[in-house]
Amino acid sequence: MKVRIAVLLACMAVSAQAGDIDRFFKDLLKGKRPAEQQQTMAPPPQPAPQPAPQPAAPPERPADQLLRALMSGNMSVEEERRIGEKIAGNFLGAVKLVPDANLQRYVNLVGRWVALQSDRPDLAWHFGVVDTDDINAFASPGGYIFLTKGLYRRLGNEAELAGVLGHEIGHVIRKHHIKVMQQSQFIALGASLLGRKMKDENQLIQNLIGNGAEIMSRGLDKESEFEADRVGMVLAARAGYDAFSLPKVLEDIGHVSDQDSRVALLFKTHPHPRDRFDRLAEAVGDRLDNLPEGKTLGQRFYVLR
Ligand SMILES: [Zn+2]
Repeated sequence: MKVRIAVLLACMAVSAQAGDIDRFFKDLLKGKRPAEQQQTMAPPPQPAPQPAPQPAAPPERPADQLLRALMSGNMSVEEERRIGEKIAGNFLGAVKLVPDANLQRYVNLVGRWVALQSDRPDLAWHFGVVDTDDINAFASPGGYIFLTKGLYRRLGNEAELAGVLGHEIGHVIRKHHIKVMQQSQFIALGASLLGRKMKDENQLIQNLIGNGAEIMSRGLDKESEFEADRVGMVLAARAGYDAFSLPKVLEDIGHVSDQDSRVALLFKTHPHPRDRFDRLAEAVGDRLDNLPEGKTLGQRFYVLR
């Protein structure tokens, strides 16, 4: 435990990544690919010397390849990331990040530490706080995660932040949104788009997902939400935080009135926080009773002005 906390402190001291994160989100807002990912991309294919022409089928276009991958459920990490990036970009076109680089850096450090405990530590994880008083959090495939300023303000310490981010990380690692996209209505839409004349892959994804915010805010099924709660709790505990921080957040949000417009979307797309709390308590039982006490790290929690 001490070692983990020390590692976390060391991570927090390193600010070299901060510029990358800022640049990443700026580029994302402009619809550009992040610089670091540009560098790692394969160079554009060079026209190879052509052998004698063979009567062969023309190579499938990248847009159609992506569609087929999505429809078959056999998607590469890179394809998953491309779709997630587009959805996150659309989302950030509709709602802005809180203009506080220290806050964004802090949330990324905590989020990446929690994500490292998952079985997909190698995804390019990105976290952001968006500037709205609504109380909610969102995930997009490939590792793009946002929580609202309204939710952040309700959190009392770093462990609660870790629990909330852990829930969203749960959606990504279990590919909950990809599974929604593989449901029948999307497959039918995808099939109708195959081979259709489209400018590029961007336009294809746009056609398929419509408004990205819609995909991110549409309800997943209840079981996916309960599963994400369990994953979030486990990841936060593995990261050295108080395992009961996510249930505490659920308890708190459960007390917000159904009539409060700030929770309208959350309550519409998730089971009620009280039900989530009960399901989590039921799943955990007494199994965590002997767990060493985790950290809450209230003193270090970044306070929003
Ligand atoms: Zn959720």
